[in-house]
This record gives sequence, structure tokens and C-alpha cells, in this order.
Amino acid sequence: MKRQYLVAGNWKMNGSLEANRTLVAGIAAGLEACAQVEVLVCPAAVHIGQVRELIGSTRIRLGGQNLADQEKAGAFTGETHGAMLKELGCSYVLVGHSERRALYGETDAIVAAKFKVAQALGLVPVLCLGETLEERDGNRTEAVLGRQLGAVIDAAGVAAFGAKAVIAYEPVWAIGTGRTATAAQAQAAHAFLRGQLANRDATITGSTRILYGGSVKPDNALELFAGADVDGGLIGGASLKSSDFLAICAGA
Ligand code: PGA
Repeated sequence: MKRQYLVAGNWKMNGSLEANRTLVAGIAAGLEACAQVEVLVCPAAVHIGQVRELIGSTRIRLGGQNLADQEKAGAFTGETHGAMLKELGCSYVLVGHSERRALYGETDAIVAAKFKVAQALGLVPVLCLGETLEERDGNRTEAVLGRQLGAVIDAAGVAAFGAKAVIAYEPVWAIGTGRTATAAQAQAAHAFLRGQLANRDATITGSTRILYGGSVKPDNALELFAGADVDGGLIGGASLKSSDFLAICAGA
């Protein structure tokens, strides 16, 4: 089955009302050059309402960067409920980004809970996972990826994948460092992840999109996205400049 490429911009804690206007206008103006690709932007939570207006009727999709691990709204100061994202026009939400795991103590169990809540509230979770440099150097990459994915499969069931979820493989050592995985390293990790799904359910594996993230730039996107199991990218730094982001989309 041919999976549609997805290129997602993770704006992280960047942007301003003015910068967002320029960025969205730039992306919208260049969408024709990447007609085959699904294009997603994930602004900071407080900017989602503004970005929705800016996106208007273009085909740019909107996503959140994080959500609360609670299915019901209520007394959780500072948190963002998934239904709020949905109401503001989000169709996707990132879960388990390595910055959330490393800086905000998100465990595999919390990530799995967020994944389930996202789906329960009608959002497509983009499950981020990846190994640290120490883990890679210690030959533990597959063990780590297997554990991170396995925690979500155990909690949500393998049927929660397929078209209902996206996986983003992001080696921690490649995020924001300018150091990318080689195309072969990315493809090997993606094939491993797809195999983990296939071991549990052969029917779901072909329809699950697996993105690569970690210092994707216009000059390496084409090569990285050429892998048979690479279905697009999750882009941080290079998603903040429309010309770079569009060039990456065109590489998909
Ligand atoms: P980067 O970030 O492209 O700046 O490396 C990727 C990510 O964290 O999603």
C-alpha cells in the first residue's frame, strides 16, 4: 500500500503573531510544488487559534505539540485538553517528543496515556520515539525503540496504529544538533519499527506512516525520505523558514 507522505513542522516554543503571519503566508504560497504531500504545522498552543485563521481554507493541517493525559477537562492548571486542540481545528498532536521525555519527565506510561487520550478525543497522535547517543553507542537502539513502541502497543493495542496514528523516529542525538542519521540508519530504524508492528498484526503495518526527525534540512531531505519505510519528516529548526520547509516538502 502506498502511504501518503506527511511533512510536519514542529515549531516548538517559537513564533509570534507577526512571525506566524509571515511563515504561514510563505508556506501557503508554495503548496502547489508539493501537491502529493500532506503538510502539517504544529505551533505553540497559545498560537493555534491565530494559525487556524491564517491557514484559512488552504490544505495546511494543524496540530498540537502536547496534550494533557486526561480524558476529562478540569482542575489541571497550565495543561491543554485534547478537546481544546480539536475544537481549534487540530487534527494531529505530537506525543512523547524527546524534549517532553527528557525535560518534563514524561515516562513511557505517560506517553502511552497521552496517545490513548488523543485518539479518544479524535486526534491523530504522532508518537515520537528515539534513542540517545549513549544508547546507540551501546548498541541498545533496537531495545529502546522496541520498549518505547511496545509501551504504547501494550496500552492502546496494535489496532490503534494504521491510519489512526503516526510514528516519528527521532534519534535524540540528531535533534537540533545539525547531525542527521544517515539515510541507511534511518531506514534501518524505520524497518525495525514497522517490523515491531508486523509482529503483532501484519495488516496494520503497511498503512502506518513513520516519519524521520532530527536535523532534516533541504539538502538532506531527498535522501532521507527515499527509504522504503520513511514516509516523511518531523521538522524542527528548518520548519521556521517557509522556503526551507517547502524545499523539504518538495523532497518528499
Ligand atoms: P530539528 O528538530 O529538526 O531542529 O532537529 C526535530 C524535532 O525535534 O522534531
